[in-house]
This record gives sequence, structure tokens and C-alpha cells, in this order.
Amino acid sequence: GPTPDRPRDVELPVREELRGKSPYGAPQLDVPVRLNTNENPYPLPEPLVARIAERVADAARALNRYPDRDAVELRTGLAAYLSRTCGHHVTADQVWAANGSNEVLQQLLQTFGGPGRTALGFEPSYSMHALIARGTGTGWLAGPRTEDFRIDVDAAVDAIAAHRPDVVFVCSPNNPTGTAVDAETVLALYEAAQAAKPSMVIVDEAYGEFSHRPSLLPLIEGRPHLVVSRTMSKAFGAAGLRLGYLAADPAVVDAVQLVRLPYHLSAVTQATALAALEHTDTLLGYVAQLKSERDRLVDELRAAGCEVTDSDANFVQFGVFDDAHAFWRRLLDEGVLVRDNGVPGRLRVTAGTPAENDAFLDAVRKLMKENA
Ligand code: PMP
Repeated sequence: GPTPDRPRDVELPVREELRGKSPYGAPQLDVPVRLNTNENPYPLPEPLVARIAERVADAARALNRYPDRDAVELRTGLAAYLSRTCGHHVTADQVWAANGSNEVLQQLLQTFGGPGRTALGFEPSYSMHALIARGTGTGWLAGPRTEDFRIDVDAAVDAIAAHRPDVVFVCSPNNPTGTAVDAETVLALYEAAQAAKPSMVIVDEAYGEFSHRPSLLPLIEGRPHLVVSRTMSKAFGAAGLRLGYLAADPAVVDAVQLVRLPYHLSAVTQATALAALEHTDTLLGYVAQLKSERDRLVDELRAAGCEVTDSDANFVQFGVFDDAHAFWRRLLDEGVLVRDNGVPGRLRVTAGTPAENDAFLDAVRKLMKENA
């Protein structure tokens, strides 16, 4: 890859907080069964591919012009999707879109974090929350989780009161543990965050469509400091598209305009995302299959003797291994790539196709027997 194994000889005057750090990214290895990056294993259906080609061709005829800077048609489509699937009506002025939810989160921290401010997250969680904080000059506070990877409400409320963060991250379902957060917990954290500052609470629902629970989106009603972030990378099977979005009070959407680059969302991206929205029902059909495969992974890993964290996502955290990295390596030798997120004793596997999951489960059973 482009990242050198050892530092280059050239000294650059990079910012203090970036010196000696490594960029985010899972190892991309060429193995038969790749279940390491929480991607959707199903390629887009051919009718959707054809529709994308059509929509992109239309967009191409106008590429001499800048795209719709406010992405109004796309935000209207996303608002309709959320209204239909999340049990709460939202309008286009409550929705904002960017190049992946990573960019949405970055825009939120540029707006509500920054130098002299702090963000709090409950670890282990999606490590980009801390990295985007660093990149935007926002201080990072790591809050606790319980032993079974839930948010400990009392400890979380205490942490918010003690540190008075400007931004609180709640990842539900949480990556890498798969743990969903209930509405009562979000409300308790929101109340604490309002009493302390008031601060913004960002609910990262990148895996929301895979949950057994309903979306937390309805909580934005009457709570202008609550933001729900979503993505087309997982449920829509379109990680390569780079389309993330948020729903919040229209004032939040207005505020992020101050930091977004003009014309950040290309006309090609907008056209492709609109085509994907036209095929929502087919794509949600794949989500239903992946949810049942996820449940099967949980059951069969338990049957194989693993300790498995309940999952509301399209991935499953399993263990417990004396040396998780050694187990990761042995799975790789069997042709199966999973993720070692650095959670002690645990690994994470993404739900793939039934055949991929079978290959993974066969490998685990074999290694568990060798261990016993
Ligand atoms: N949030 C969480 C919890 C994630 O796991 C990911 C992707 N791994 C993202 C956000 C970012 O995804 P994207 O930028 O592709 O929308």
C-alpha cells in the first residue's frame, strides 16, 4: 500500500498532534473470504446498475456546471426514505448529505467541536470518532462501557457532568461490538449533556437498518441538539458510492453550511444516490437476508463454544481468546479475513453471503476443536 512501513527520511512540519500517527484503515488482503470491513456482500442488482448508468449519463451532460450545491432533490429523497422506515416524518430541510458519514461527522465536529473544545465517546467504539476529533483539533475523552459492552448510564451521566464535553457520540448499533442503545439511554445522556453545557449529541446509526430495534431518529423531535447520522455504505450496499447523511433540526443543517466545502457532493454522486433510492425495496430485501445470516452467525458461534456479544449490526463480535490476534492469523491461514479491532480477546466478523459465512464457521469450528 501507499503507507511506508517505516518513517520516510523527510521531516515535514506536520501538526504536533499528527506526528508519528498511523492513518485509519483495515488491512486489505487478497483472500477468498473477506469479512473484515462491514461491507454488504451483495453487489448492486443489475437493474439498479442500469439505472445508475442512465442517471449518471444525464448528469454527465451537465458536468460543465457545478452540481446542485444544496443537493435538494437528493435530500428530499433521503427525507422520504427516513420518513418511511424510521417511524418519524422528516423534511428535506432536516436532512444533510456528504461524502460518506465520515464526512458528515467531520462537518459536525468542524461546526461544534474544534480547538479548545472536547468530544466524548464510549469505548470500544468506532475509532474514527476519535480520529476525526483529532483531525479537527477537538479534544477526545474516552468514556466507559460495561463488561458486556453496554453504555453504563450512571457512569456516562457522571462523565458528562464532570467533563462537560461539547459533543457526545452515541454509536448505535455500536461498532465493533454490535450493541444497540435504547431510547431511554439516549434521553438520559441528552438531558445530562444539556444540563452540563449544552452540548450536541450525535447518534451514529451507520448500521441502523440492521437493528432488531427501531431507529432512534424520532428522538430528534423537539431536541435541536440531537443529530442522527446515517450512511448508504452498509444497508444500501453502496460503500463505494461515498454517501452519508444526517437528520436533525433545520438549524443544525444551516450550521454545517458554514464548514462544508462549496459543491462538496458531486453531480455523479447525487445522481447515483438518487438511483439507489429508487431501488430501496430491493436493497432492504438484502438487509433482511443479512439480518438472518447475522442471527445465524451469533447462534452457530455460540454453539461452537465462542462467547458472542448480542448483535444489532451486520457484524458479530466473538471471543474470548487468550490471544485474539493469533486466532485472527489462524483464520487468515484458513482463507478467512476478519477484523481485530484491538478489543482484548475479541474479534469481529462481518455477515457475508451464506457461503462465506459457512466457510467462516467451518474454519472457526476447526480451530476451536484444535484449541480444545
Ligand atoms: N460510522 C460507523 C459506526 C462506521 O462503522 C462507519 C464505517 N465503517 C462509518 C460511520 C463511516 O461510514 P461511511 O463514511 O462509509 O458512511
